[in-house]
Amino acid sequence: MAKKQYAVIGLGRFGTSIARRLYEAGQEVLGIDLNEERVEDAEKYITHGIIADSTEEKALNSVGISNFDCVIVAIGDDIQASILTAMLLKNLGVKKVIAKAISKRHGQVLEAIGTNWIIYPERDMGERVANQLLSPNMLNYIELSKEYNIEELMIPNKMAGKSLKELDLRAKFNISVIAILRNGEIIITPSPEESIHRGDILVSIGKRNDLARFSNIE
Ligand code: ADP
Repeated sequence: MAKKQYAVIGLGRFGTSIARRLYEAGQEVLGIDLNEERVEDAEKYITHGIIADSTEEKALNSVGISNFDCVIVAIGDDIQASILTAMLLKNLGVKKVIAKAISKRHGQVLEAIGTNWIIYPERDMGERVANQLLSPNMLNYIELSKEYNIEELMIPNKMAGKSLKELDLRAKFNISVIAILRNGEIIITPSPEESIHRGDILVSIGKRNDLARFSNIE
């Protein structure tokens, strides 16, 4: 993966989790926080850390913020600071601005400013937990639209040994298998003759309800 430059503004739990994961994946991460202690605590997980107020244009310019590939505004409760920061970032020409919203209104303002991706951590996590409960065999998913998902589904043991053709998931569940994950390998667009092994994970595309129906087979 090509190295990208990220800046995370606000090093609370949310910002630090993002910074840490990006840093562990070998990316360049600049951490910015008003609070000296927060910057010190995050130092193990970031390439550089600076103490600054992100609502000050000068501070953002001094780190050359417009050269970053992506800037994440992870400011918690201070909605005004979050909005001002996102606005400055867009005005300074940052291409990809991601921001955490703590309410719907906050999110709407961020959207109006041109924030590229707005995250509602509590709401999104709540939905993920509910989805996991509804689909016990689901490991991971991507939402394609309100209706369609791509999901990684564990296969029920009774399906092992059968081919995709025999299982006929398209007719029975209205879902399509786009890949199989087996022992760390990936089989892309498997042929209908491919037989399913115990422990396989089917990467499937379909309507959420259809995927959930498959995922609930005992
Ligand atoms: P979380 O819920 O993710 O733990 P917090 O509210 O604890 O969120 O963290 C938000 C962080 O954002 C704090 O460390 C705070 O110091 C920082 N912060 C708030 N306003 C600014 C600002 N204007 N510039 C830089 N950092 C800020």
